Amino acid sequence: MRTLSRRELVTTGAALTVAAAAPMESRAAAAKRQRQLFALDAITIPILGDERSFPVRRIYCVGRNYAAHAIERGSDPTREAPFFFQKPTDAVQNVPLDGIADHPYPSMTKDYQHEVELVAALHSGGADVRVEDALSHVHGYALGLDMTRRDLQNAMAMEKRPWEIGKSFDHAAVLGPIHPAARVGHLQRGRISLAVNGKIRQDSDLSKMIWNVAEQISQLSKAFELKAGDIIYSGTPENVGAVVKGDVLLCKIDGLNDMSIRIV
Ligand code: MN
Repeated sequence: MRTLSRRELVTTGAALTVAAAAPMESRAAAAKRQRQLFALDAITIPILGDERSFPVRRIYCVGRNYAAHAIERGSDPTREAPFFFQKPTDAVQNVPLDGIADHPYPSMTKDYQHEVELVAALHSGGADVRVEDALSHVHGYALGLDMTRRDLQNAMAMEKRPWEIGKSFDHAAVLGPIHPAARVGHLQRGRISLAVNGKIRQDSDLSKMIWNVAEQISQLSKAFELKAGDIIYSGTPENVGAVVKGDVLLCKIDGLNDMSIRIV
């Protein structure tokens, strides 16, 4: 008997799938009906005042979006266009409103740093979104921590290599619940701060972002079609710094509930 080539196997498999489906069923519906080898949990974020949760599609992050932080990271804030990176969706660590969530100190680093950030959560999207339309896609806002293995990020940057090992590890996308814009409005100014063990480290104002959330969405949508479920970490103000096991971080943004974690 003749052995089927890999290419023939693929096309034969596809033909069988279509043949087995009901005549009116689309290929996408047929694919969805297929059983999976194993189950994966959906990644979701709680929404305040809503029994439904927010399913996460992608996590985008803006780099160097406050002038004073851009300077402390060694770049010129007046000339730099916004740039973006991603964290994997399953890097999400949800922090409940009440109490202090344990956050594991990650492997491989000796310089584990906090970056407190406003996070925008999109319930719709598009390509080439206009700045004036951008906020209509925002379902709400959350407090976030873009946790960073700074020593590894810096080592990769020096070698012109990707940042993943410094930014995209497990639990690196810490965030509180989503506060619907319908309840809290669109946050464009207001204090953003982070204290470690009761001592303020980061303390700025959302209005000091170089690119505001609407501009971030517009810029990002030129490079990637944005979709419902995308969340955007909008950058951190100055005075990022290291934490060690036992430290308690308290994050605040005017208009949102506080968020707290303990490094364990
Ligand atoms: Mn950041």
